[in-house]
Amino acid sequence: MPNSGKIGRLSVSVNSFVCSKLGTNEMVIDYRRLPISWVSCKGWARQQLIELSTIFFPASCVACGQDIFKDQSQDNRQTGNDIPLCETCRFEVTDLSPRCGCCGLPRPSDISCSLCRKIAQQLGEEKILWQQIFVLGSYQNRLRESVLAGKRPAGEGLVEALSDLLIEQHPAIRDLKLDAVIPVPMYWRKRWKRGTNSANTMARKIASRLGVPYRCDIKQKILARPQKSVSAKMRPANASAKFSGVGRQLAGKRVLVVDDVATTGATLSAITRCLLEINATVVYAAVLARTDEAIGSEDNR
Ligand SMILES: [Zn+2]
Ligand SMILES: [Zn+2]
Repeated sequence: MPNSGKIGRLSVSVNSFVCSKLGTNEMVIDYRRLPISWVSCKGWARQQLIELSTIFFPASCVACGQDIFKDQSQDNRQTGNDIPLCETCRFEVTDLSPRCGCCGLPRPSDISCSLCRKIAQQLGEEKILWQQIFVLGSYQNRLRESVLAGKRPAGEGLVEALSDLLIEQHPAIRDLKLDAVIPVPMYWRKRWKRGTNSANTMARKIASRLGVPYRCDIKQKILARPQKSVSAKMRPANASAKFSGVGRQLAGKRVLVVDDVATTGATLSAITRCLLEINATVVYAAVLARTDEAIGSEDNR
């Protein structure tokens, strides 16, 4: 892990204890981090121990806190793997089943996808607007747990590790000739309450891995009604009403939009539309997890 990651995790751990965040000029008082029950206290304490162990013992897994090499023999320890996940955790969050590059849903690799058209209709578009989507895995089991853990400030190291894994699983991302990586934005009040934004952490990590600029050219204007409270017909309009493009610096650029979870895909589609309206040449999407029952499901982020 680069030193900046350790410093980030250290600041996150300190943040949880003294309710402040180092390394930025913002002061975050995150009351949601305070333990309110024994169960949440245990989970909170466990996460702190994992975070602290990864700081003092850099070879610790960011997901379980155990020795990264615990599953390997002494002879195989110098493999050059710089993703701080042990083999067990890597195996449990990895999903190598073939997916459609357009809608991101599972399908046998040798037949064309029959769901793309349905997804586009559900999104209120003639076709899916992003050029291609890269998915780490299905939003279930261990990957779902990891993504949910990543929504807490102490989970930023885990989100970074999963972002690395996403690039490792899809080396084609390196060949996209990207000009910018941008996160799905989060309304400032929600981010303040949460203390972190997984999409932001992902975008910074992926941009730094690829050597591509990180940008925030899409802003969330309003805290729109939750998608699940809106009828399926109104969801695309509800999603796109939230976002607006800032400036025209992305005109003629190749852009990768990243988010931690895609359920219906309405948010990604709304941002892609936004980027195309400010004349981005091509938009790609990348997510850690995709809800495989996207047809007819609700956006429960
Ligand atoms: Zn592990
Ligand atoms: Zn498809």
